[in-house]
Amino acid sequence: MVIIIGAGISGLSAAHHLPGEYLVLEKENVIGGLSTQYTPPDGGDYRFDFGGHYFHFKDKGEIKKYVERFGRFREFRRKSAVYMLDRYIPYPLQYHLSYLPAPLKKAALGEILARKKRGTHNLQEYLEHNFGPTLFSLFFKPFLNKYYGTGLADLAADMDKGSIPVPDEKSAVAGYRGKGFSQTGYNPVFYYPENSLEDFIETYAAGIQKGRHIKLNEEVVEIDIDKKKVKTGNNTYEYETLINTMPLKHLLKAINQNARFPSHEKLRHISTLVCNIVLKKRRKRLHWVYLPETQFPFYRAGYYPYRGITVTYLEKTIKTMVGEAANRDILFDEILFTLKKLKFIESKDDILYFDARLIPVSYILFDREWHKVVPPTLTDLKRYGIHSTGRYGAWNYTSMSDDIKAAIETVKTIGR
Ligand SMILES: Cc1cc2nc3c(=O)[nH]c(=O)nc-3n(C[C@H](O)[C@H](O)[C@H](O)COP(=O)(O)OP(=O)(O)OC[C@H]3O[C@@H](n4cnc5c(N)ncnc54)[C@H](O)[C@@H]3O)c2cc1C
Repeated sequence: MVIIIGAGISGLSAAHHLPGEYLVLEKENVIGGLSTQYTPPDGGDYRFDFGGHYFHFKDKGEIKKYVERFGRFREFRRKSAVYMLDRYIPYPLQYHLSYLPAPLKKAALGEILARKKRGTHNLQEYLEHNFGPTLFSLFFKPFLNKYYGTGLADLAADMDKGSIPVPDEKSAVAGYRGKGFSQTGYNPVFYYPENSLEDFIETYAAGIQKGRHIKLNEEVVEIDIDKKKVKTGNNTYEYETLINTMPLKHLLKAINQNARFPSHEKLRHISTLVCNIVLKKRRKRLHWVYLPETQFPFYRAGYYPYRGITVTYLEKTIKTMVGEAANRDILFDEILFTLKKLKFIESKDDILYFDARLIPVSYILFDREWHKVVPPTLTDLKRYGIHSTGRYGAWNYTSMSDDIKAAIETVKTIGR
């Protein structure tokens, strides 16, 4: 028997491809994990995403074809920007230097053209070297400090996984002369289910009969890797193979024999507060905006498609939902300030409703320990019949389509 921990997009994708007997154990009373929508406790009929969840299919045409079997998707050409120095600058900033004040754009271009090839040892060195000190201190440092909530010299140089396009000289010069272009990076085009993310995930899961194959409200709390048993609050289950999609950190903690693995405390991550805000009307045709300046407590603002109403979201990195972070009045003032500055609203009357939800494990941190700890641990777990996959199971930076692909690969590995 194969047991799958978690009914998010990774667990469901594994279930779809497993030929034999399996059981999915999901701790919540709903399926979908982060790849669905939720109703806030007092939210009436509102259904919100956990932030903006668009599908990216770059270099993954086969995954696009596969998900299109479960629903129709709308295609979007990315319109995103950086808001700083009281102006919108099209994203990516490094290709739009003409939007900067004269001394800054001159300095930034000069530094890009003067780069020499050399190795870098951490994220700070990597960014300073590839983008120059001006762009680094103007954008990357304040933005990423806010986002990761940690010093960049602590993080690995390859942390960005290609999501921050390094400018070549020709494009930087073109951007300086006002001929910037935006359709670069990992997601110049992206997709959203025609109806909603929840609708897609429900259709996706429909092939798996609830009750028989998916058990809700079953939180895995303990795993005996020698006896091959998982324990939830209610039951104990035996397995031959375990596919795990809960955060690797939590998996290691739950294993009885965890002294055989590195401490779960070595795995670092951030937590994200996502504020979903219903507006009277949409005033900006942007999908998302990066907010590097410290005047904004949020690092990103955006919209996702929603039928009938306008929803904007704001994201910030916080540690826990206690004290000031839990104070709705403070949060409302922060939202109001940010949305007014961005010209998403004119006054507080434009806000019809807001909800804030904490995602406790949202982005993992690629610090120096990551390389030493994560890949060898995933290999060791396989020796015990445990395949840990998905963004959090494999403790990585991935998208929903990466997770689907990885789950399919995982099932193939088991079959071999
Ligand atoms: C703010 C934010 C924005 C994002 N935006 C995008 C985007 O635009 N596009 C994109 O492609 N991706 C985006 N992502 C990434 C995307 O959300 C993930 O890649 C994807 O949802 C991961 O799916 P998963 O099934 O691996 O994990 P999850 O969705 O986390 O699913 C894991 C499941 O396991 C369950 N579980 C956890 N612990 C236990 C336990 N002990 N016992 C039983 N069940 C358990 C959980 O309840 C959950 O249902 C974003 C992520 C964040 C945080």
